Amino acid sequence: MMAMTLFALGISAQNMQSASSFSKKHSDLLAKQSRVKDQIQVKEAQKYAADLYEECEPEPDIYTEGWESNLVNCYKDANVPNTKVLDVRHYVMPIKGNYVTSHYGYRPQFGRTHKGIDLRAAVGDTVYSAFSGRVRLTRFERGGYGFYVIVRHENGLETVYGHLSRFLVKPDQYVKAGQPIALSGNTGRSTGPHLHFETRFMGYAINPEAIFDFANRCTHTDSYTFSKANYTKARDYAPSKRYNQAKKSAAEEKETANKKNNNKKEQSTVASTKKSTKESRKDSRSTYQVRAGDNLTKIAQNNGMTVAQLKKLNGLTSDNVVEGKVLRLK
Ligand SMILES: [Zn+2]
Repeated sequence: MMAMTLFALGISAQNMQSASSFSKKHSDLLAKQSRVKDQIQVKEAQKYAADLYEECEPEPDIYTEGWESNLVNCYKDANVPNTKVLDVRHYVMPIKGNYVTSHYGYRPQFGRTHKGIDLRAAVGDTVYSAFSGRVRLTRFERGGYGFYVIVRHENGLETVYGHLSRFLVKPDQYVKAGQPIALSGNTGRSTGPHLHFETRFMGYAINPEAIFDFANRCTHTDSYTFSKANYTKARDYAPSKRYNQAKKSAAEEKETANKKNNNKKEQSTVASTKKSTKESRKDSRSTYQVRAGDNLTKIAQNNGMTVAQLKKLNGLTSDNVVEGKVLRLK
């Protein structure tokens, strides 16, 4: 309802300049309509907008800073590959809503990185396991994640769900993608109810927006290629960008295909040239018709002869040959 009010004005939350300009627009609109129901909506919308500007303080990293982080980060001394393709086809969004209230990334004011994203959720909303897997931990950390769950998935990822109000699963329990694992809440270091959600590969906190398109409640692609070089980067598939991206990748694909074809062609040309040279040598053809661009050196080389032999055989006195002339090779 509140989101609809915002979108009805044609303002997406990310594009809003300030809560006050938003509220002015909205008030102007309402001045014309002047309905009590809408006035209530203004208040709600204003609160909603205010919530959006509220920066959530990033949680300390449970994998490295949380208590007993040895237990939490079991990948501490592991050899993490530079790249790894992860199958993300069988997913379920962790919460019913799709509103990202706080993105992944470095927060200069706190001097630390937000290792996941915050999704708008009320206290008591159902939290779903994003993929199938086994619950690795259910814990409480007062100074950070509050009640949190870590699920280890079959595709190699781990997902972390923080600030929960209640667990619905136990450690070591197998869960299916979409199975309720907890209820969201406001526990730990949290300024308001929300779900803190992380996607990790061997301890590396991947930007969840690199895998998921939260606005459209889907994954960007069927597989996500983890790479140490770019796992922190989100992928933006806004409609125009999505189109451009599609165009770009189509063009890239075509180019790659062309390259492949060309390579194949080249290879086959090389192969056939080799073959024909071989064959011709084996056949030991007895004549050769001079083509454009030919010279005696080339013809002699191609036929396993010296220029002198070729000249002698054909009674040539100069090194020039005319196109179309038939030369004896034997
Ligand atoms: Zn968070």
